[in-house]
Amino acid sequence: MVEALEELKDSLTGDVLVEGDREYERARVCFNLLIDRRPAAIARCIDADDVVAALAFGQARGLEIAVRGGGHNPAGHCAVDDGLVIDLSRMREVRVDPEQRIAISQGGATWLDFDAATQAHGLVTPGGVVGSTGVTGLTLGGGIGHLTAQYGLTCDNLLAAEVVTPTGEIVRATDDQNSELLWGLRGGGGNFGVVAQAEFRLHPLKRVVGGRLEYEGEGVAQALRLFRELAIDCPRELSIQAQLTTDASLAPQLVVVPCYTGESEDPEMLRPLRAVPGLVDNSVRRQGFLEQQRIFDPGYGVDRNYWKGHFVAELPDRLIDDLIGRMTALGRPPGGILIESLHGAPKDVDPASAALGYRDAAFNVSAMASWTDLAHDEESVDWARTTAAAIEPWSVSGGYANYMQADEPIERVRAAFGPDSFARLQALKSRYDPDNVLRRNQNVPPAG
Ligand SMILES: Cc1cc2nc3c(=O)[nH]c(=O)nc-3n(C[C@H](O)[C@H](O)[C@H](O)COP(=O)(O)OP(=O)(O)OC[C@H]3O[C@@H](n4cnc5c(N)ncnc54)[C@H](O)[C@@H]3O)c2cc1C
Repeated sequence: MVEALEELKDSLTGDVLVEGDREYERARVCFNLLIDRRPAAIARCIDADDVVAALAFGQARGLEIAVRGGGHNPAGHCAVDDGLVIDLSRMREVRVDPEQRIAISQGGATWLDFDAATQAHGLVTPGGVVGSTGVTGLTLGGGIGHLTAQYGLTCDNLLAAEVVTPTGEIVRATDDQNSELLWGLRGGGGNFGVVAQAEFRLHPLKRVVGGRLEYEGEGVAQALRLFRELAIDCPRELSIQAQLTTDASLAPQLVVVPCYTGESEDPEMLRPLRAVPGLVDNSVRRQGFLEQQRIFDPGYGVDRNYWKGHFVAELPDRLIDDLIGRMTALGRPPGGILIESLHGAPKDVDPASAALGYRDAAFNVSAMASWTDLAHDEESVDWARTTAAAIEPWSVSGGYANYMQADEPIERVRAAFGPDSFARLQALKSRYDPDNVLRRNQNVPPAG
């Protein structure tokens, strides 16, 4: 193996990390500390040719292959014991063409990289809410964030991609060229190849009215109902998310995060939320988009996580009350429940343009257990599963592939796309990755 790794090092312009190297420990860590894996080698590629070489090496040596973008996937798909990680963290360049309103982002860029480059020109693409998340990884699962209502899912803004397939081809996918592959990349995950670069549509935007509204006591239930009404009324200028958590005394707390892009400094639609008794903190104000993007900024690799959720068609009172009740069920802070609204622009897009199957859902509701003590693993996982079971009666379109753990059965992955799209994805998989080399993902096995 030592000799083989020398061969890999020689074939790359980038570098290779193995056990004992100074940067190996940091490079193998996932966002989710529940995952603790030790790859045989981490190939830090710097371009598409490096990716071709790494894919060929891994297959020739019979190594299991994982692809790492921003390392955020809660399932820990970016790490593999004794296998080869194709690490894209040195491929983070984002080039912006302000005239054409297009950004070309390398496969390992994070939202911090992307937003910094595009905001320098007063432009955005709707992305994720945490800066260290990988742009491509998030896009491949759909992409929900602070600008979803205004500009759609992230993958709705994906115009083209350069993909290195496990068979060693470098394929460009656009709406005119290899269009079926582009369709699959819009939600179908990292199943078909390694995306060396992706091209996004940009929109002009500099400032938003945003921030956090925090509620305690009776305000929690009332504000969550108001959040629901706001999302149902579908204002296009307002994206909105809500997160249930707990305070120090273990009482439920609610954080509502609006992002308004209209003209008003004091949007009328937010006034009812601001008037709820129990509002204990209100940081909503006009601010730069980059400030909005810093609202949620968890530490990387500090917590253990287990997430499970469902897309739902509605958020009835009974479900709201159940969710609030779940926050105290564990007897210690369980983590959070995230509720993302899918109103607005995602509904404008032709469903046939993307593989994903949840466009029609009203909300994405996710139980996100997070904890630090190993001794709490079992009960925390159980809390997330039981909470997800409480959401399930309202489930439509399965769960969100971007938040799924590795233990989801294939039926849940299929349900996330629907049977027709899943069959189409399987045919695409047979074309580009017939041996299922890229299986460390929410896997779509080849047809047949
Ligand atoms: C703190 C946190 C915040 C998040 N916020 C959001 C959010 O606001 N909105 C949202 O929609 N999702 C969000 N997510 C979920 C996130 O989008 C997914 O977990 C996504 O898979 C992360 O991509 P990554 O590149 O960071 O992760 P990685 O773990 O590095 O990659 C995950 C998988 O994506 C694939 N992949 C990544 N890059 C490439 C590439 N270039 N080519 C081919 N395949 C690739 C591979 O299959 C890889 O195994 C969040 C996750 C976390 C932990």
